[in-house]
Amino acid sequence: MSLLPLVPELLRQLFREPATNRFPAKYLPPSVTGFNRDVEAGRAAVVPPVPTPPRFRGKIAFDRDSCIGCTLCVKVCPAHAIEFLADVKKVRVWVDQCIFCSQCTNICPKDSLSMTGEFLLAGEDRYADDLIVE
Ligand code: SF4
Ligand code: SF4
Repeated sequence: MSLLPLVPELLRQLFREPATNRFPAKYLPPSVTGFNRDVEAGRAAVVPPVPTPPRFRGKIAFDRDSCIGCTLCVKVCPAHAIEFLADVKKVRVWVDQCIFCSQCTNICPKDSLSMTGEFLLAGEDRYADDLIVE
């Protein structure tokens, strides 16, 4: 097999900016918890991530006021990440269960659900406030 057809692409890649960066630190810290402590104390800085592209599927956002409680999002969610709150006829999204498929945002008739560019969602507490959207 000839490699000749690949040459133009190889040359293009040589001069292209990398699509990712060294995040969150330029060099791998010896200890992540030590690195976090250094960041808090101002002794180290986090290298910001590259901007997310348009239509990136990150953390769900919910516009509670426009939600009509139709439960379509609950029915299509393959991860059972959306709970219907019958007493108030609104929904709650458990972000730790979400697989970012965007089916709920596509089906919502009121555009009450949307995907944001936020993706730094790792944590130790799945019930933390920032992992519950309601
Ligand atoms: S993005 Fe997918 S997994 Fe996440 S809440 Fe919506 S339907 Fe469920
Ligand atoms: S599909 Fe939209 S309007 Fe219906 S319950 Fe879900 S968020 Fe509310």
